[in-house]
Amino acid sequence: MPCANPTVSWTNNVYQMAPVIQVSCGTPPTPASPAYANSTQSNPSHNSTSVGCGNASDNLVAEYQPNGASITPPCTQFTSASSYSNSSPNFSFYQMNQDDQPSNYNDNPDYAILTSVLLNGLQNVQQAYGQTLSIKSGYRSPKVNGLVEAANNESHHPNSPHIYGYAADIASNATTWPSIHKAALSVKGSCVEPYSFEKNYKHVHADWRPANWSPGSCLPSWQ
Ligand SMILES: [Zn+2]
Repeated sequence: MPCANPTVSWTNNVYQMAPVIQVSCGTPPTPASPAYANSTQSNPSHNSTSVGCGNASDNLVAEYQPNGASITPPCTQFTSASSYSNSSPNFSFYQMNQDDQPSNYNDNPDYAILTSVLLNGLQNVQQAYGQTLSIKSGYRSPKVNGLVEAANNESHHPNSPHIYGYAADIASNATTWPSIHKAALSVKGSCVEPYSFEKNYKHVHADWRPANWSPGSCLPSWQ
């Protein structure tokens, strides 16, 4: 039986279609819908970009561009307080997610970017120093970082390594500052403030930004 189209004829002022005879005409074509479903599933990054992570880290991601940051981290880069675990047990999540301000600005406080290079680096500084370190400030959201800078009468650094989870301010005083500074400098990869920017030697800033980091490399005087 041939696979022909039904015959159409003009009869009594109407088109008459001959009955279609059901015949087997080879393998039916594959429906389009499964292929479409696969292509949607193979593009999860598109979905996560538009939908976000569905938690408070989305609020933090939204702060980067308006505050002048040149990199917007994905929400998947944030650690939550409940899922925080690291190889540096001396540094708790909330110790690493504070801003060294009397009031603490409390900006989505259960989420932060805390890179392993920072946590491991601090562990190495502590080992070099030989005593337990206290962290005054680690991660700061872009909004909080701006508030801290304003409170300290500092110029605005829209790409502070604090907003990317690379930096920490290690508590010190006039007596301990030189030793902590020396210990931090001795750890490979650290970028350490060359002298105390505060008159009272409150902390030593150290960060582990990547080499040749596009927002700003570590200056030679900080290495
Ligand atoms: Zn700092």
